[in-house]
Amino acid sequence: MANFADIIGHEDIIQHFKMSIERNMVSHAYIINGEKGSGKKTLTKVIAKTLECESGDPDACDNCHSCKQADSGNHPDIKWITHDKPNLISIDEVREQINDDIIKKPYTDGEYTSRYKIYIVNDAHLLNPQAQNALLKTIEEPPEYAIIFLLTNNLDKLLPTIVSRCVVLNMKPVREMDVINYLTTVLNVPEEQAYFSERFAFGNLGKAVRLATSENYKEIRDTTVRLLRQIYNMETEDILAVAKRLSDYRLDMQDLMDIMQMWYRDILMFKITNSPNQLVFKDEYTAMKKQSAHISYEGIDNVIKALDKMKLRLEANVNFDVAMELLLMTIKENYNG
Ligand SMILES: [Zn+2]
Repeated sequence: MANFADIIGHEDIIQHFKMSIERNMVSHAYIINGEKGSGKKTLTKVIAKTLECESGDPDACDNCHSCKQADSGNHPDIKWITHDKPNLISIDEVREQINDDIIKKPYTDGEYTSRYKIYIVNDAHLLNPQAQNALLKTIEEPPEYAIIFLLTNNLDKLLPTIVSRCVVLNMKPVREMDVINYLTTVLNVPEEQAYFSERFAFGNLGKAVRLATSENYKEIRDTTVRLLRQIYNMETEDILAVAKRLSDYRLDMQDLMDIMQMWYRDILMFKITNSPNQLVFKDEYTAMKKQSAHISYEGIDNVIKALDKMKLRLEANVNFDVAMELLLMTIKENYNG
């Protein structure tokens, strides 16, 4: 179903593959690098389908047997690597699913043989060093029909020896208007909400979609904003009560922290520019203006650091209520009167 024309943004990567197909210069190993939600999987699905298309054209035909199989997710030579443990791809999994399999010739049904054997490792940063070393051998001497895609949001976790043998393609932010158009016309998101989500997602389409369409997220956002509007006027006991209530959102703490950080980034931005133009929370302009008079640059810096620290604490599974109380008190203390 999807084709290059259906992909929003990422024109440079698409162009790269179109040229490679036209010039018959497809490489054996690619790294697609980009943050979570940036569309790596969607894009790679279309790239794989296009590479395999029986037409050999730089755009998949959608009609051949291979395209149909790719669309249904049943292409015998487009293989997504699976793993048992959520946070690890093991050497055994690499051996079984890639190294031992790649030496077998591409699928053939008598009339037609696949152009390539394509292996896709999503979250490739989960490959431990042993698994990466096992993969390295294959990447160094791949069969001519083999193509390996490593998708990752953390290039630093891949061994330099792996990275240097791959073509590294970085996902870039999608243009503001493209994100907004998609949200408003395809997903029917109200305009104001679409604008907010776009600003918050910084060109990450997947994130923008999630922010624009999740009721849960809207609730978290509204609750957090209500708190931040008032926190500098609140009494200690009220702050402690709020900290308790926020434990309802325990599972969405990352979102909550992101919202808080964005709020203080906005206050900082307002202090510098004295204008609402650059704000993510544009409709909170009045609150921003008021608060910016009550917090110094240093105070904002302290709050942003406290939020970073809170993120680390959450990862370390500390007592949630205590950590939240501490955070909110720190925020309050950094306002002056
Ligand atoms: Zn086709």
